Amino acid sequence: MMAAHNPRLDIDLAALCANYRRIAAACPAAEAAAVVKCDAYGLGAEAVGRALATMEDCRTFFVAYSEEGAALREAIGPKPRIFVFNGPFPEYLSAYRAYRLTPVINTIEQARLFAREAPGAPAALHFDTGMRRLGLSMGEADAVSAVSGLNVTLVMSHLACASDPAHPMNAAQLSAFAAIAGKFPAAQKSLASSGGALIGKKFGCDQVRLGVGLYGASPLDERSFPIDPVARLTAPVIQVHDMRAGETVGYGATFTADRALRLATVSLGYGDGFPRAASNRGKAHLNGALCPIVGRVSMDLIVLDATKTPQPVKVGDRAEFFGPNRLIDDQAADCGVIGYELLTGVGGLARPRRGLGGRVERRYFWGDRPADAGFVGDEGKDA
Ligand SMILES: *Cc1c(COP(=O)(O)O)cnc(C)c1O
Repeated sequence: MMAAHNPRLDIDLAALCANYRRIAAACPAAEAAAVVKCDAYGLGAEAVGRALATMEDCRTFFVAYSEEGAALREAIGPKPRIFVFNGPFPEYLSAYRAYRLTPVINTIEQARLFAREAPGAPAALHFDTGMRRLGLSMGEADAVSAVSGLNVTLVMSHLACASDPAHPMNAAQLSAFAAIAGKFPAAQKSLASSGGALIGKKFGCDQVRLGVGLYGASPLDERSFPIDPVARLTAPVIQVHDMRAGETVGYGATFTADRALRLATVSLGYGDGFPRAASNRGKAHLNGALCPIVGRVSMDLIVLDATKTPQPVKVGDRAEFFGPNRLIDDQAADCGVIGYELLTGVGGLARPRRGLGGRVERRYFWGDRPADAGFVGDEGKDA
């Protein structure tokens, strides 16, 4: 049952596809792959994957771990390539076979394991060019080339500072990557995430791996590249009341009114994945005004200062916490978090999800109209 008193995450699949085309066009010579890890940044990998796969150019997907790959394979069918960033582990090799997943190899042990268990099957190599998170070291290139049975179809690395085009680390990683990639002439080369794809064409190599920009948050700190909002988080007002000067709001009494205020209490909180860091810092768009969050965000409630709304606020009105009227990057900046965190925090607790009881309802649209049931699949059915 769609409940009027629940928060909603409305997702525009047409805007998602528009962002894909726009960012892909920045590196026209490169294939544009889609990163749909973490349930497509909280927006639902099934619907997002199906929508992206309607575009002829979108033929390669990346997930973080193999269970995500298996679920994505069931959603998007046999054709697209699905790469798994975290690499192959012995207990998951059967899933790689059953769902035709391609591992991203991060260690020599993984290379040997996969070559032994699936000789000749395609594999990607991830070289660490400075991120110091995952990947083979540059010095391991010759050792990994010597592993027999390994069929390397993609060589990749990951930029540490892609959101800042002027950062010197980008050029340093590009040249380190070029040196390594030259050792694998037959393989596709991939270095850039959505930020990297916007730094300059030479970062595009053969393939870019697009994530956050698809989902409507800016990949660049400067926000110099236009991205359409994709997700809209709204929550209903469940009580309206007046507050006198000198009174305080919420846990810890961290906000004191300096004059009479009209408050709107909204049904959303950190239990829904909305960050407590928004306390006394975030804002929501309500009845034509941007209303400050006053006091602390509680588990399932947020109080807004709705004194200045042009239309008087009433129970049932919906406040927008991110979306077309409250850009996710503005909300993130005000709250001291990043767009990625707002999306995955709220989306990670959205329902219906097998085994999880979050109350945020995801709804899918294609522009202004509800998306076709074919995109929505299990996501759209109520738990
Ligand atoms: C998450 C991730 C991406 C996508 O990054 P965005 O900044 O979201 O575009 C690309 N490559 C790797 C290795 C990643 O982990």
